[in-house]
Amino acid sequence: MTIKAVVLFSEGLDSSLAVKLMQEQGVEVVAINFIMPFSHENKHKKKKNITIQRAEELKIKLKLYKAEKEYLQIVKNPRYGYGKNLNPCIACRIWMLEKAKELMKELDAGFIVSGEVLGQRPMSQKRYALKIIEKESGLEGLIVRPLSAKLLDPSIPEKEGWIEREKLFDISGRSRTRQFALAKRFKITNYDNPAGGCLLTESYFSLKTKDLIKSNMFNMNNIHLIKKGRYFSVSNSFKLVVGRDKQENEELMALAGEGDLILKSEVKGPIAIGRGELEDEYIRTALEIIAYYCKGQENNFKVKFSIFPGEEKDAVVKDKMTKERLSKYRVKSSNI
Ligand code: SF4
Repeated sequence: MTIKAVVLFSEGLDSSLAVKLMQEQGVEVVAINFIMPFSHENKHKKKKNITIQRAEELKIKLKLYKAEKEYLQIVKNPRYGYGKNLNPCIACRIWMLEKAKELMKELDAGFIVSGEVLGQRPMSQKRYALKIIEKESGLEGLIVRPLSAKLLDPSIPEKEGWIEREKLFDISGRSRTRQFALAKRFKITNYDNPAGGCLLTESYFSLKTKDLIKSNMFNMNNIHLIKKGRYFSVSNSFKLVVGRDKQENEELMALAGEGDLILKSEVKGPIAIGRGELEDEYIRTALEIIAYYCKGQENNFKVKFSIFPGEEKDAVVKDKMTKERLSKYRVKSSNI
């Protein structure tokens, strides 16, 4: 009887190697890949395409799972805290494994496979973290990490003889030399560097996210918005994002939703989207901020504004914002 397993799969090399090592032992592998809300948008599409292509090359079925609202709760209140920035890696891995476990049950698969390498990443791949993750996801003994298995306690599939421990590996740490050798053996080419692209590991994005959480504005729409442009926390209840170039201006416009404040300069310049409570004082500040980023006269600056999807009106900004005042609205670790 063929043994089936679910693999946590990505575009990276390690999960492909994990699949190959399992296939070598006759295991039928089905992949699950997570589409995360905090992935870099410009890298996201490319990564998704590579993941699909890799699954095809490996001849495995692939299920894409979109992480949305429920995942936000993990970022807000992570069991086991955050990494260096707002990355809740341990809770995030537990969540992924819980989803993989659901698929495992649905498919009547016997275990989970992960391409994790002991000690490769600072938070979630330490020995104690792997144990916590396994226990909390209710998968004790049921996760096989083929690249590091010989350094870890034998899993149930190894003890039961579903797979041979001897054919697994003892790779640890950040060096990739042994993975590259394995890639050569399995003729896997064109692989990227491991993972990356999670915005929660970046300090500035984490500050913006923290600001949204603090302001009770932490939702999917706002997360899409703060991935673009320059972010200003005008008040606890009103945020402004200013486009940095033509492409971002267009992307911001595509994200505009009902009730958003839209600002455009009359002359060449950025587009800004303001979201939250539209108090006069906040609108005035938003107008001054967009004027700061527009070329042209310093005083009596003309800006077009509208409340989406309403009509455009004209406003005159008496004085552009100064650099000093502007810095008050930027998010900094000292004011979050
Ligand atoms: S880096 Fe991001 S996606 Fe990866 S485990 Fe951590 S929180 Fe999750």
